[in-house]
Amino acid sequence: MKRRSFITKVAIAGSLPSLAPKSLFGQDKSTPVIDGPIAVCTWNFKDANAAAGKALMKGEDALSAAISAAEVEEENIDNSTVGLGGTPDRDGRVTLDACVMDHNGNCGAVLAVENVVHVAALAQDVMEKTPHVMLAGHGAEQFARSLNYPSTPLLTAERKKAWEKWKHEARYQPIINIENHDTIGVLCRDKAGNISGACSTSGLGYKMNGRIGDSSIIGSGLFIDNQVGGAVATGMGEEVVKTVGSFLIVELMRQGKTPQEACDEAIKRILRKQVGKSNFQVAYLALDKQGNIGARSIHEGFSYMHFNNNINQNINVQPI
Ligand code: ASP
Repeated sequence: MKRRSFITKVAIAGSLPSLAPKSLFGQDKSTPVIDGPIAVCTWNFKDANAAAGKALMKGEDALSAAISAAEVEEENIDNSTVGLGGTPDRDGRVTLDACVMDHNGNCGAVLAVENVVHVAALAQDVMEKTPHVMLAGHGAEQFARSLNYPSTPLLTAERKKAWEKWKHEARYQPIINIENHDTIGVLCRDKAGNISGACSTSGLGYKMNGRIGDSSIIGSGLFIDNQVGGAVATGMGEEVVKTVGSFLIVELMRQGKTPQEACDEAIKRILRKQVGKSNFQVAYLALDKQGNIGARSIHEGFSYMHFNNNINQNINVQPI
């Protein structure tokens, strides 16, 4: 892919409207409106976000742009928490979760799918080609085969070796960790001003077989309301599900909070139930209809990509 034409910069978290060179003012004269297509995604997935930006600039709709970003990471064997090369469950099986949501409020999801690389696209197919919203496990894989998705073993030699070492050292106990989260959650606003999103993951490393986190659960790992905006999550899925995090953020924005205030509140909801500092990471990223961005995490280390006006930047996020 020719992504080199996008300028990549690194910025420190701050108020995103100022990053956009071209800004107008909203009807109430206080809401900045960021002009042009926007793509944001969790973590430092530069190439993925650039792919979304490029698709948007070509005039593709927000959903296909978001899925094209997810596909970059699904194919990236160096990303051990998405797609091919993902970390297996504790039985050595790589099972993927993904969901998509479009600007009309339609959504689709696949859960615990094996041997399919492009699970975000498969979630779109569930949304568009079945009367259902979610397909899980063998049924989802069969559906993929019926659409001629190739059957691809997802466990790479490197991940297998790491799993064997883990089995030996951790005695088959699933782990909680702060650092190893790399789910891709993408939010795009296209030339027509419509917002859609996608989320794709192999979930927590060495999870129990059959475990589902937040990333395929609409309202938890991803939620879009085209009148208001969208939100995505990464990190400890169990905590995101308990607070229906992405839906919460969009509803808070509907009530007048900025994307930043809404992300802060969603993180605080999780922390309110914790005694002391949590030993897990959760991070949220939100985009409103005007193009304003919010992001917050529990711990250090979270960043996101922001594309607008042909500039693709990595933004570090200060923890709460
Ligand atoms: N949210 C994902 C899950 O719980 C994990 C992650 O973001 O790394 O499955």
